[in-house]
Amino acid sequence: MAGALIRMATDPRSQAAAGPRAAPVLKATGHRPVLQGARCSGCSVTVYPADDACPRCGGPADPVALQGTGTLWTWTVQRYEPKSPPYEPPPGGFEPFALGYVELADDVRVAAVLDVDDLDDVRIGMALSVTAGPGVPRARPTTLSEEGS
Ligand SMILES: [Zn+2]
Repeated sequence: MAGALIRMATDPRSQAAAGPRAAPVLKATGHRPVLQGARCSGCSVTVYPADDACPRCGGPADPVALQGTGTLWTWTVQRYEPKSPPYEPPPGGFEPFALGYVELADDVRVAAVLDVDDLDDVRIGMALSVTAGPGVPRARPTTLSEEGS
């Protein structure tokens, strides 16, 4: 059940609007975060996390490295403790946290826990860096020093 939450295919309407796209760059540049996704060779839908089959047309999908930077598309606050398992409360116990969709440059939205110091700082459109790990990906605000180096 939890797996379904973090899976979101590219909105087909945005694909149509974007038109033909350049070939994806598979190599990560510098220390920018990269997420392992997949892109359908048939209909060009991009998904995260990676999957062998396209969720839209069922065709084969190839691994693609997604830039782990994007902007906050929408978000909400999780105010009650999720069911455990799969949720594992932190050592200090459950505290409300922000959960959102980060829209990456690759035209795919990734669900992630937002690591922010203050929930009042969260804004739609804010720049975020997404990192994958065990469980749901985490996103934290992109700092100027990261962008500059
Ligand atoms: Zn497809």
